[in-house]
Amino acid sequence: MTDVREMLGARFNAKTARFDAGPGGGKPTFEAIDVAHALGLVPAGLGREVLECCYLDAEVRPSPKLRVHVLNAVMGEWRRQEDALAAAKLELGFCQAMAEFARSMSSELRTKLEEAQGAYDSAKAQCWPRDAAAMLAPITLAALQEVAGCSACDACHGFPMVPCTRCGGTGYVSWSERTRATAIGRSKTVYRTIWAAMYNWIVALLRNAEQEAAEVMKRALTTREVA
Ligand SMILES: [Zn+2]
Repeated sequence: MTDVREMLGARFNAKTARFDAGPGGGKPTFEAIDVAHALGLVPAGLGREVLECCYLDAEVRPSPKLRVHVLNAVMGEWRRQEDALAAAKLELGFCQAMAEFARSMSSELRTKLEEAQGAYDSAKAQCWPRDAAAMLAPITLAALQEVAGCSACDACHGFPMVPCTRCGGTGYVSWSERTRATAIGRSKTVYRTIWAAMYNWIVALLRNAEQEAAEVMKRALTTREVA
């Protein structure tokens, strides 16, 4: 079956587009209205917004709804990061106070203190930068453009039947660090050291939602095919 993403793009570009339902001739074809119907069966949410944003229009323009979905997900992640940092800070403070109260620093207490410091440093390193809010819009836009323009893996051609070393079994090729850096207006080094974690999180959020939504569409069209 033609990829539902291609169908969405064609539906926008040519209202009379017809799609092969499967390999080999003589099979039923889908008309633009079938594709529209299948899209209508995708539940409202981030996945559907990403599908519409990435494939219905020639230009990637995130809708207000899409932005709210991303913002809600990001707020949840921010909260998780802040909670983890606060808990690690509390534990470190507790260990430091214990060390203050102890008449002598036992090796056990020293180990506990070092572990608490390590956990705090790690939690801090995993937090997105302070100015992450200012980068949310450019990163989201770049990640959407990456999802929209993602090309099938040239090793397995998007059908990873065996473990594919080129794409890791995802079936598509991600943007390079340089392309991502350029897209968000930062140098490759700054992207890699400061923004990569946040970018990866957002692109994974969008991609997972998009794939789930595309699956719903594909199932809807397949069911129609056998009906
Ligand atoms: Zn591959």
